[in-house]
Amino acid sequence: MNSELEEEVDRLSEKGLLSLGYGEAELERLAALTLRLGRLKKERQAVIAAHVYQRPEVIHGAADFIGDSYKLAKDCAGVAARRIVFCGVRFMAETAKILNPEKEVFLPAPEAGCSLAESISSAEVRRLKAEHPGAPVVCYINTTAEVKAECDCVVTSANASKILKRLFAGHKKIVFLPDEWMGRNLASELGRKIGRELVVWKGRCIVHENFDASSVRLYRRTYPGVKILAHAECSPALVKLADFVGGTGGMMRYIRRTSAPHYMLVTECGLGDYARGEMPEKAFIPMCRLCPYMKMTSLSSVLQTLEAPRPAQRVEVKPEIAAKARKALERMFELAE
Ligand code: SF4
Repeated sequence: MNSELEEEVDRLSEKGLLSLGYGEAELERLAALTLRLGRLKKERQAVIAAHVYQRPEVIHGAADFIGDSYKLAKDCAGVAARRIVFCGVRFMAETAKILNPEKEVFLPAPEAGCSLAESISSAEVRRLKAEHPGAPVVCYINTTAEVKAECDCVVTSANASKILKRLFAGHKKIVFLPDEWMGRNLASELGRKIGRELVVWKGRCIVHENFDASSVRLYRRTYPGVKILAHAECSPALVKLADFVGGTGGMMRYIRRTSAPHYMLVTECGLGDYARGEMPEKAFIPMCRLCPYMKMTSLSSVLQTLEAPRPAQRVEVKPEIAAKARKALERMFELAE
């Protein structure tokens, strides 16, 4: 092994890949890929954004930006590079394109969708608007560009509560879509009536809908002092049992600022892997499910996208749709401040 490769293997194992179960031969193979990838990024003037649910080798081997939807949207809003390769799912790459119309945006796994984003169409949003005239329509960032274009404001799990509170100051009723459980969780946090004050859609995340409250109760009894952190897409019954509810960025901040014998993250497995790598001194109890869409991206597909992208990997959003969706995203940036 040459010294450059050796250093890269060391870097990857320091990032926690060895303790996550990657063998030495696998690390050597990945290190050869990440070295090539680093050179190509410079040549192609590209940056790589990766959601925390991505595979650890993508996060630690390729990414320039790592974070939740809100952080990545902000990071991508101001990049100087000519190209953005988005390791995540389609609605995220579309958001990057909407915020960077002049840049080329690529999605290494073009088939990576999202059950929430696919739960509602733009025609259904128009129908909701006709049924609730005058009510602002707020959409979670997990929506297609066409759906965002029909909405007044976008939110993420990190800022939804703050933004809805602000909007309720001037409106009696708000339409929130597409995540039903997030909507119900927000209504109970803000003391608002579902249907009369907060109209919700029926979308669900196929990962978070499968966590059940009874196993959380069991973990609480088994691990005294455990802090339970639930994603805002979990069911209202489960959210009631959690010590912290929010998005992945908020979960990481909560773990950093608290001291507990154990932490249980009720969300996609990727966050647990990332948190273990960032805070090896803390103890995490596994309770995770894989998002099949998030795991479609591999290091080789990122490399192939940089080398010779296929037409399907190029992300395009029609200019008229992008302009309207950008307004809804900018409203989020304004109200989240
Ligand atoms: S974890 Fe859920 S919300 Fe996130 S991409 Fe997967 S299906 Fe969509």
